[in-house]
Amino acid sequence: MTIPTIFDSHAHYDDDRFDPDREELISGLFSGPVEYIINPACDLASFQKVLQLAHTFPRFYAAVGIHPHSASEAEKDLEQTLARLATDPKVVAIGEIGLDYHYDFSPRPRQLEVFSRQLALAKQLELPAIIHSREATADVLALLDAHRPTGVVHCFSGSAETAKELLEMGYYIGFTGSVTFKNARKLVEAAAVIPDDRLLIETDAPYMAPEPYRGRRNDSSLIPAIAMRLAEIRGATPDEILRITRENALRLFSRIGAEI
Ligand SMILES: [Zn+2]
Repeated sequence: MTIPTIFDSHAHYDDDRFDPDREELISGLFSGPVEYIINPACDLASFQKVLQLAHTFPRFYAAVGIHPHSASEAEKDLEQTLARLATDPKVVAIGEIGLDYHYDFSPRPRQLEVFSRQLALAKQLELPAIIHSREATADVLALLDAHRPTGVVHCFSGSAETAKELLEMGYYIGFTGSVTFKNARKLVEAAAVIPDDRLLIETDAPYMAPEPYRGRRNDSSLIPAIAMRLAEIRGATPDEILRITRENALRLFSRIGAEI
């Protein structure tokens, strides 16, 4: 029997690509090496789906928030909706929230407003924020500095310099399969400078499958491939990477374990 040691701090099992086998897949993961999964919801339509999964599987947790892609749909009462959902003990974070200037699916002023409101709410509720930042480093840093909830910048894609600024503000940094990609030189430099107590590991499933599975549907069973690459970069063993990222996630998402 394998002792479960994997904490996948970011996966989207509510995604349509899991429709054919969602429940079997997740129960298979939990009877194998996966101990915990956090599934951030991204829009109003996904909240119930994610919460239902969190209530089906004991070690599956939810985050609630409006992704920058969906910022246009945020209503005036967003804070009340999120605060009400966050009374559920299986909700452990506000996310995923942030800025995406690569796709610009919502107008930037709207993204900034909705991100800022949700950071303020995370701070007020004393919940960590799960942050998406794509081609928007300066604005993300400025808003984090203004609000300062705890949290993680997930699927990190920045430089070692940006990582250092985030670390100084107390943030955790999450790495996905993108750190295994061949063109990941900048990311490799960043992964090398994160202190042991700030590193998180995540799939961002169904996206970002690590090498040699790149392009396939990702799931939490591929975390060891990411751990292997992080271990190489950091001069550690894959087991050490899994151990420290698990400890860090339990420290950051402190509601886990506290609900019993
Ligand atoms: Zn995500």
